[in-house]
Amino acid sequence: MKIVVPAKRAVDYNVKIRVKADGSGVELSNVKMSMNPFDEIAIEEALRIKESGKATEVIVVSIGAAQTAETIRAGLAMGADRGVHVKTDGPVEPLAVAKLLKGVIEAEQPGLVIMGKQAIDDDCNQTGQMLAALLGWPQATFASKVVPGDGVVEVTREVDGGLQTLELRMPAVITTDLRLNEPRYASLPNIMKAKKKPIDERTPADFGVDVTPRLTVLKTSEPPARSAGVRVGSVSELVAKLKDEAGALQ
Ligand code: AMP
Repeated sequence: MKIVVPAKRAVDYNVKIRVKADGSGVELSNVKMSMNPFDEIAIEEALRIKESGKATEVIVVSIGAAQTAETIRAGLAMGADRGVHVKTDGPVEPLAVAKLLKGVIEAEQPGLVIMGKQAIDDDCNQTGQMLAALLGWPQATFASKVVPGDGVVEVTREVDGGLQTLELRMPAVITTDLRLNEPRYASLPNIMKAKKKPIDERTPADFGVDVTPRLTVLKTSEPPARSAGVRVGSVSELVAKLKDEAGALQ
């Protein structure tokens, strides 16, 4: 069984996001980019399934400009077998990403697609759901445990107030939540090995997909600045202040 893992290049989670002066978006020039953290979790899960003997190949797919190849290499350095890079001129919206992924998946015929629940740049949380709908495959979002069986996969999902366990027929789409696993670091030998692993380059035209944006961003703005706090001299002063504030709220 093959496992396909879509992975997005996004602003690194440690970067302090700055909004462009004209409000058209966030500053991306000279900003550190990395693999979307939920996608690292997806690759880790795919590798663990392969290491348990239940999969034979892990394929990382990324859609984006030339530098996106670095994100695929990072996945190959973790241990994935090969990559597919669908080259685009700029960022692509979730529906177009889902259509392109559908094209790659129809060619690869994997038993599982494991991907992030959301990309931390736009926080869309749409691509996995759209992809499952386009493929007509079962989906389990926000996975915190994945147990592949014989033709089925059991997925535990994090839902409001607890956990839900589903059994899906394979092939299926799974999106990862934060607690599914802790991704491994790429070792130096694996980084070297990754340089020789193949990356297949494709274009949206290969899949007949129009990636023209359908959404218009009207405005991007920073969250309101926090107002200054008050320093208190002792615990009793703090308690008195809290009581005063609570009284004022009633
Ligand atoms: P989103 O719906 O944008 O929040 O993204 C959810 C997931 O879809 C991500 O965690 C990735 O696994 C996948 N994804 C989104 N955009 C891309 C992209 N450009 N290339 C590859 N995978 C993507």
